[in-house]
Amino acid sequence: MNFDIARKRMVESQIIGRGITDRRVIEAMLKVPRHLFVEEAMAAQAYSDSPLPIGEKQTISQPFMVALMTELLHLKGTEKVLEVGTGSGYQAAILAETAGRVYTVERIRPLALRARKVLDSLGYLTINLKIDDGSGGWEGEAPFDAIMVTAGAPEVPQSLVEQLAPGGRLVIPVGSQFEQVLVRITRNADGTITHEESVGCRFVKLVGKCGWLSEE
Ligand code: SAM
Repeated sequence: MNFDIARKRMVESQIIGRGITDRRVIEAMLKVPRHLFVEEAMAAQAYSDSPLPIGEKQTISQPFMVALMTELLHLKGTEKVLEVGTGSGYQAAILAETAGRVYTVERIRPLALRARKVLDSLGYLTINLKIDDGSGGWEGEAPFDAIMVTAGAPEVPQSLVEQLAPGGRLVIPVGSQFEQVLVRITRNADGTITHEESVGCRFVKLVGKCGWLSEE
């Protein structure tokens, strides 16, 4: 299988074809080798239009969802960004291509270790990865210009909103454990908060002190 051709087709049909216009996001999706972030047996499906299992009952998100969430953050390349839910590490690599400094948190150790290995092998050495409950953010490194949560929360964690810099954006799936809506929170420079809703989606649970209290 020619992965370069598969990736280009994915971007044309699933990303540009569905209305993603941010050049930085498109270039990142063209560049990052998604097939290396999934298990070898799954590599042939890496560019298909769906999430895929990555072990530990978790998933790598659908390519379109990765692109949409990144586009919603309006990144210019200089931002300090936090991702909650490293999973495979793929989204962190996309953020490294579209933002400035990237911080990412994963609660499941084997996933975090695998993601670190793949990211290092691809040269993403400056991505900061921590094994922890990230549902309350990364207090020691706040504030962030952008925060992305790649797991579904019952409500928007207040501590994440508080860790946004003035003008900062938070994108997070919010809803029940079965379906959510993608929400963007902006902490405006004057201190007010803007709440916007995007598409419906279905993510695994954000498990932690500011998310769902149990995996079940
Ligand atoms: N962004 C990932 C990628 O590119 O592969 C996909 C993330 S997957 C849909 C959601 C991830 O969030 C899982 O790996 C899960 O273990 C993690 N997660 C859930 N709750 C978390 C928490 N409180 N803190 C950190 N990670 C969490």
